[in-house]
Amino acid sequence: MTRKDIDDIISILCPNDEDYEKPIISPKYLRQELEQLALEQEPCEDIGEVSDGYHTFNQLYHQRAILFATIVNQNKDRAWKSYKHEDGKYCFDKDGEWFIVGIDTPKGSYTYHYSKEYWDYFDCEELECGKPWDGHTEEDVTRLLSLPSVTPQQRIGHWIDIMVEDMPAQACDQCNTFYPLAYTGGGHKYCPNCGAKMESEDKE
Ligand SMILES: [Zn+2]
Repeated sequence: MTRKDIDDIISILCPNDEDYEKPIISPKYLRQELEQLALEQEPCEDIGEVSDGYHTFNQLYHQRAILFATIVNQNKDRAWKSYKHEDGKYCFDKDGEWFIVGIDTPKGSYTYHYSKEYWDYFDCEELECGKPWDGHTEEDVTRLLSLPSVTPQQRIGHWIDIMVEDMPAQACDQCNTFYPLAYTGGGHKYCPNCGAKMESEDKE
């Protein structure tokens, strides 16, 4: 808000016009309030420190970098990074200051640029030059949703009662390892050998 803005607002709200017997608000008071407001809105020196009241741009960019690194690190076989674009030129023509990191999702690729401080967060293949841009834009961020779930499937197994050398034992139907009941007492919830979660479907 400039001094001229303030003058304009005062001239609208407190017109010096014979039709108005009294201004709606004291011009002096209004000027004080507006000047205070203008002071509070001093332009920020560093745009990165501009805040929406909760987070600054810098904080949000940092959050975005770490979140994308997490996605990349869980999809290493689809991800790559490079200090250069496909044409062999350094990103933004700044030698090694920025890099591009991308993921090839089932719906196409998606990429971000980050400054070199973030290079080591991205544990993926390092390329001499970035892959060719497939035309994706910011709106294609939803391609990331097509990445397959990385939650490992829990193997499910069952104990099978068997006899081993006249001793009762239980065998895992997933890996066939058997455990004499005399040692284990039986009924383990997970197979100690293959980690399968043992379900007891025959016991009601
Ligand atoms: Zn097993």
